[in-house]
Amino acid sequence: MTMNDLTETYEKAYEEAPWIISQPTSPGAQELRQFLRRNGLLGRWLDPNDPLLDLFGARGSFEGRLPLVILPDGRRIEPPIEYRESRNDVDEEGLARYIETARWRADVAAAFGLATRPRHETYDVLIVGAGAAGLTAAVYAASEGLRTLVLERTAPGGQAGTATHIENYPGFPQGISGAQLAQAAYAQAVGFGAEILVGVETLHVTLDPGTRLAYNELINGATFNTRTAIIATGFAYRRLEADGVDRLVGSGVYYGMAPADAARFRGQDVAIVGSANSAGQAALYLAEHARRVTLICRGPSLERRMASYLVERIRTSARIDVLFESTVSRAEGEDRLESLVVASDGEQRRVRAAALFVLIGGVPRTGAVAGWLRLDGHGFLMTGRDLFDGDGRWWPLERDPYVLETSQPGVFAAGDARHGSIKRVASAVGDGAMAVQLVHEYLQNPDITVGESVQEGLGVLRLKRPGEGVDRDDSGIQS
Ligand SMILES: Cc1cc2nc3c(=O)[nH]c(=O)nc-3n(C[C@H](O)[C@H](O)[C@H](O)COP(=O)(O)OP(=O)(O)OC[C@H]3O[C@@H](n4cnc5c(N)ncnc54)[C@H](O)[C@@H]3O)c2cc1C
Repeated sequence: MTMNDLTETYEKAYEEAPWIISQPTSPGAQELRQFLRRNGLLGRWLDPNDPLLDLFGARGSFEGRLPLVILPDGRRIEPPIEYRESRNDVDEEGLARYIETARWRADVAAAFGLATRPRHETYDVLIVGAGAAGLTAAVYAASEGLRTLVLERTAPGGQAGTATHIENYPGFPQGISGAQLAQAAYAQAVGFGAEILVGVETLHVTLDPGTRLAYNELINGATFNTRTAIIATGFAYRRLEADGVDRLVGSGVYYGMAPADAARFRGQDVAIVGSANSAGQAALYLAEHARRVTLICRGPSLERRMASYLVERIRTSARIDVLFESTVSRAEGEDRLESLVVASDGEQRRVRAAALFVLIGGVPRTGAVAGWLRLDGHGFLMTGRDLFDGDGRWWPLERDPYVLETSQPGVFAAGDARHGSIKRVASAVGDGAMAVQLVHEYLQNPDITVGESVQEGLGVLRLKRPGEGVDRDDSGIQS
């Protein structure tokens, strides 16, 4: 295809793309933009104050909520009353708002031509989340003959798909962009026959011990059954908002840190932003190798959020400087991070840094299964022998749980959402592959055993097991 052909194809696609009437600040506009961009979809964005609208005499027709999507056939998709992105820690009203938002996303996805409805009635395995763990599970499951359905809320690729440069994924000595890695895994999974629905998520699950099937209703009303499930919904990192940071992710700026990362920065100056235990531990690992470690903290002291033994060791380390009441205002460097501009006490100072580790927290995306599957105190999915920690009542069967099996037999966890996971692409890939092996083992001897089930308003199904207290929250197990 020549450059001219490409331009023509693009222009034609653009002319046929839906209109999106929105202001940059309309709630959900930014997320919609990202949703379309990450799924390679085109929309024609128009500000409601654009003089073009006067020309068409159309201004009066856009007075409702924005962003408003107008399809080529004239259909309109109105946004939710209140845009709600996260399902974690919401009350009943918050859940209702979240569900409206999710329905809107599913409508938009379908309107833009994404697959949002399953083709079959029953699947061997449902994979929730199409990040590194979910896509890998899809590749193995589909290639090994399992009828496989993947649900992805936003866009295939997950966190890794948003990283401009992944430099430590085995097999790519020059690094690889997260988007390239995601596209390749997506194509491979689809090539083996996995069905991947985008923009949708589960609304209800009902388990039937008789048929040993889980009946799923999606947010758009579509339904299907599955014999097993792998939950690979990942972890939402809190992102660092400062100039230059996004551009250098993977080229000196890193979210999360594994102890093994420290040795790569031998003799160099590095920085960390954060002030909780993970930041403290990272500072100590790095101080074993780096020349200088700068710990950048927003607050006036470390004691509030960090264990005292870590605070003590940081205080006595000759290689760690702590900057209190400070924030990163800019990351600098051509191809790689070279320095940071840090604002402290109204002054800006430049700090040399070959790496910046961002450790400012985040949450596992497990809100949809909270109250059903056992989570640890931070919201990560508990699996395997960990299910016996403190309270054995969470595991209902005689046999031991498989390593990645959650408190619901036949439901497995993989990747960043799992308790004890290493937050790395390769680890998520490993989990995804392992989960499929365990699905095979489970399918040879399926043993869904559930007690009485309780439907809870709009949330996912909550299960009562024989002998378990009626209200899980009252049992205090989670905290
Ligand atoms: C900016 C950035 C850069 C990184 N760089 C590196 C790096 O260089 N090297 C490295 O090894 N690691 C890196 N990491 C970490 C790495 O990306 C993650 O450890 C890895 O991607 C985790 O994969 P996952 O599949 O478990 O989860 P995720 O990648 O988070 O994928 C989870 C998916 O599930 C979807 N989802 C969530 N809830 C639902 C639901 N209810 N229904 C349907 N879908 C749902 C999400 O939309 C998402 O697509 C980076 C992380 C970030 C944020």
